[in-house]
Amino acid sequence: MSKKDIRAIEGTRDYLGEDGIRFEKAMDGAREIFTRFGFEKIATPVFESTDLFARSIGEATDIVEKEMYTFKPGSEMITLRPEGTAGAIRAYLQHNLHKQGSLTKLWYAGPMFRRERPQKGRYRQFHQVGIEAVGSSDPLLDTEVIAMGIAYYERLGITGIRLRLNSIGCSKDECRPAYRAKLRAEIEPNLDKLCKTCNSRFERNALRILDCKNPHCQEVVKGLPASYDNLCEECEDHFAKVKEGLAAQGIEFDVDATLVRGLDYYSKTVFEYTHGALGAQDAIGGGGRYDGLVEELGGPATPAVGFAIGVERAMIAMEALGACCCAAPLSVFGIGLGEDCHKAMSGMITRLRREGISADMDYEGRSFKSQMRLANRKGAQVALILGDNELAEGKVNVKDMREGGEQLSVNIADAISEVKKLLP
Ligand code: AMP
Repeated sequence: MSKKDIRAIEGTRDYLGEDGIRFEKAMDGAREIFTRFGFEKIATPVFESTDLFARSIGEATDIVEKEMYTFKPGSEMITLRPEGTAGAIRAYLQHNLHKQGSLTKLWYAGPMFRRERPQKGRYRQFHQVGIEAVGSSDPLLDTEVIAMGIAYYERLGITGIRLRLNSIGCSKDECRPAYRAKLRAEIEPNLDKLCKTCNSRFERNALRILDCKNPHCQEVVKGLPASYDNLCEECEDHFAKVKEGLAAQGIEFDVDATLVRGLDYYSKTVFEYTHGALGAQDAIGGGGRYDGLVEELGGPATPAVGFAIGVERAMIAMEALGACCCAAPLSVFGIGLGEDCHKAMSGMITRLRREGISADMDYEGRSFKSQMRLANRKGAQVALILGDNELAEGKVNVKDMREGGEQLSVNIADAISEVKKLLP
């Protein structure tokens, strides 16, 4: 195979140009908003023991059944993380955060891996930014988490988010198990109308039939009872308070009985953010409460709620909405004409950067005219221009690059303070 034939693997992407800027905004926005809500950063490994994902996401889920990248390089089976919650909770327990006895609020950002069929908005390596709030069952925390997701989209300039909301109850006999039994009893006479996947779901994961996209399955689902009408008292009360909390914050939502989410660990509140710009893959983020997961992974019973937002899908929405896609402009472009001035300019640029001012210069021996063009292309606000005569006199020219901007000759020692006067 010749060298030029090597391309990115199907379902993976490069991020550059405007996409690179959008990607960075999506990542920066996460830090800014999640920190504002009192969440602390956690970074966990990209691969973990396969068992962790099988136990937390659930053996009978699409992810664990067919989408994980699993290897056995030595004696241990490892998997590239398909999502961030399992690793975050594993770390929460491993580092004894549960012993601190208070609500732990964590956020993360990074690549996830799922062997799905690639299409627009669906990749095999994609990125999520997400949060986990572990240690409280307060329904207002669900509300806060949902509101934080919306604040994040707003930060990226994404308007028109729709919020779908449901409650899938808890593991108490009279709640989800009773609902599941009721559902199965109603579905059973119509099994022949369901797709092959839903037939296999019927035994293992009947709730997932509710969100099947197949039109024949949807026809069957239409008449089925809703989980939110079949909750135990505690879950019903919790769901009512979440809805009240959202209404009090002016957050609109659609209660949707077909929203069950693909991961087993959810309980009570589940939600999904969708956006019309995304086409078939319209889920731009989602989450819910997972009160049983910490215990499932060997810790004490600990309620928790969280979400994960798909960065690539947020980027598609940003592009469709024409939202924030320009790089921060360069503050200063330095032009040193001739070898001595080039060297002196390199020192000035370094000093500017140390002061926190973005600065750059030419390293390709361009002419003065073409360096000025480059400064304009980079959006430089100020140009520093140094020729042999100026250097001999200890001076440098400071040019305001705005339309009609002036050029001043100043002492080299005063250059930084003169530049600062011109910057916003
Ligand atoms: P999940 O972890 O499945 O709840 O997904 C949370 C969010 O991650 C979804 O709402 C999507 O925005 C995004 N997402 C999930 N799978 C993919 C994928 N294969 N490619 C791109 N984004 C994805």
